[in-house]
Amino acid sequence: ETLNNYLDLKGSIRVFCRIRPFSHEESYSYRTMFTLDESNVFLKVAETKRKQYKFDKVFDPCSTQGDVFSEVEPVIKSAIDGYNVCIFAYGQTGSGKTYTMEGKPTDLGVIPRGIQVLFDRASESKNRFLFTFSMLEIYMGNLRDLLVPGNKTNGFPNAPSLSIKTDPDGGIEIENLVAITVNNFQEVKRLYGMGTRLRSTASTMANSTSSRSHCLIRISLTSFNAPERKQAKNKLWMIDLGGSERLVKTKATGKRLKEGKAINLSLSALGDVIDALQTKKAHVPYRNSKLTQVLRDSLGCESKTLMLVHIRPDENDFCETICTLGFATRVR
Ligand code: ADP
Ligand code: MG
Repeated sequence: ETLNNYLDLKGSIRVFCRIRPFSHEESYSYRTMFTLDESNVFLKVAETKRKQYKFDKVFDPCSTQGDVFSEVEPVIKSAIDGYNVCIFAYGQTGSGKTYTMEGKPTDLGVIPRGIQVLFDRASESKNRFLFTFSMLEIYMGNLRDLLVPGNKTNGFPNAPSLSIKTDPDGGIEIENLVAITVNNFQEVKRLYGMGTRLRSTASTMANSTSSRSHCLIRISLTSFNAPERKQAKNKLWMIDLGGSERLVKTKATGKRLKEGKAINLSLSALGDVIDALQTKKAHVPYRNSKLTQVLRDSLGCESKTLMLVHIRPDENDFCETICTLGFATRVR
């Protein structure tokens, strides 16, 4: 009992690091730049100096999707236990966020594996569960539903942003967000495919790339406990964040610059919120970005958060790597 409470408290925010496999040219710099163990990354910052970054878990470039998922699975299971859960993929563009979250058809990532676990767990449970699936993107501070039927006619990308509503007990709702009841993995897969297609159409129409927006999957769970006639609701979020690269490097101008600024602002707002929660600050600055407003009721002491930080082991990305590791240190 006490031990469980302790583990619960301790385990509310976890930060993992995954280092992408390197191509042939990168392998040399990888070996000289990084030393890893189970829970530390040591980065070579000078000829004889290594800086240590601590994590709850480190996955080296040889780690499989299964290795990663076995550590993510307990966090997903806590959604079945009634917690609000947020799983984020953070990192620069090309660092492997989408690979971790979505994976490849032959090597599924966290999202499909997680969904499968939810259905399996629900079928084993003595409670009855209802799941709905939603998918949205946050682009330049606007919330876009990715499951709106009849997509192309819906005025993307100029459709008005969905608005966020707070109910009296502090719950957050996104007004008019489509939430479709799903009964099995195949149904989720079909919807996810629809959402992904709409996302790429939208970014083409906006003359953008999807790396400049956040993609959010939401599973809303309702559980029915028959003997006690109790009904409870909670949410599982799985989020592929926009690329964390800074603007200097990308030499962005005009629209690209604006997109980059929007992403960077929301990522730092996310860092500020998690940092405030970790250090138990009286004020948690949720209001500073749409991302943190949307997740307000799912980030906090009653929730579980998992930050999957991604690193691209290329010498040219050294500065980005330092920034990424800095972010990770800040939120842990
Ligand atoms: P991001 O979403 O962060 O921009 P991606 O997930 O698209 O990055 O990864 C960039 C490229 O690297 C893709 O071609 C992807 O398949 C590959 N990749 C990333 N991580 C891994 C990994 N762990 N194993 C094999 N290939 C990977
Ligand atoms: Mg991606």
